[in-house]
Amino acid sequence: MTNRKDIATPSRTKEIMEKYGFSVKKSLGQNFIVDPNILSNIVAASDIDKNTNVIEVGPGIGALTEHLARASKEVIAFEIDNRLLPVLADTLSPYDNISVVHSDVLKVNLQESLPEMIDLDEPLVVVANLPYYITTPIIMHFLETPVRIDGLTIMMQKEVAERITAAPGSKAYGSLSIAIQYYMEAEVAFIVPKTVFIPQPNVDSAIIKLTRRATPSVTVNNEKSFFALVRSAFVQRRKTLWNNLLIRYGKEDETREKLTQALEAANIDPKRRGETLSLAEFALLSDAIDEIVLEKD
Ligand code: SAM
Repeated sequence: MTNRKDIATPSRTKEIMEKYGFSVKKSLGQNFIVDPNILSNIVAASDIDKNTNVIEVGPGIGALTEHLARASKEVIAFEIDNRLLPVLADTLSPYDNISVVHSDVLKVNLQESLPEMIDLDEPLVVVANLPYYITTPIIMHFLETPVRIDGLTIMMQKEVAERITAAPGSKAYGSLSIAIQYYMEAEVAFIVPKTVFIPQPNVDSAIIKLTRRATPSVTVNNEKSFFALVRSAFVQRRKTLWNNLLIRYGKEDETREKLTQALEAANIDPKRRGETLSLAEFALLSDAIDEIVLEKD
């Protein structure tokens, strides 16, 4: 739902910024959306309703926040820039279901702070136009928290969105694709042109929809070993899996022998590159390396 008084119209955004003498800080990734239709599309993609609580990262001057407040139960919006607090108190004053929290979202202990504001048994999602300089740490912060977050609908640089949703064998496929696809189903909802922002970023953006899987996409004996193996397979993208494994696990004869056995057990050709391995193959190899090379039970 959009209306004439939306914060996100270009004229109202300019008026608000002038009223408060606000100038954007590039270092905080401040690119404000000035197109209410894009905001309606983001809210539609997020599948929220009046029973859903929403976490927003970086409300800015409140453009997306008000759309979320209209469509959801409660909105908790974390904003790092204290200059925006008086602006938000003004622009969001018509809504009684928004809490703006002044903090760096990466420093927030979600498990401790959220129960004071919402009931964690209710559906909970993240919807945000992310500050692009910390896209990956923010996503990982939400995936790794013990709080059950059902989904994330988030805007990011198109190139990062392509890495997150990439399939094995493609150039964009790497440790980020695997870290996220392990926990979530990932799809690009739509592409957003740079012209809908003030100021305009240098690149186009994309809305990504992440939906939590009931269980991780593959089963591994040890998640830590799995993620360590995945990272090591992409340390030098141009090298074969074999060379990257030697860098990670050591070049001694005994290690070479055990690595060969582990690769055979997982049925993986050492001459392949990391970017060709599926999540299932990484899982098999991780379990084999744990058992044969690292001799874990
Ligand atoms: N939601 C607004 C919109 O769509 O127009 C603004 C989005 S802007 C791309 C990113 C916002 O995140 C800015 O308001 C910025 O101040 C805020 N921000 C940057 N780093 C942050 C952090 N670590 N924690 C919380 N907010 C942050």
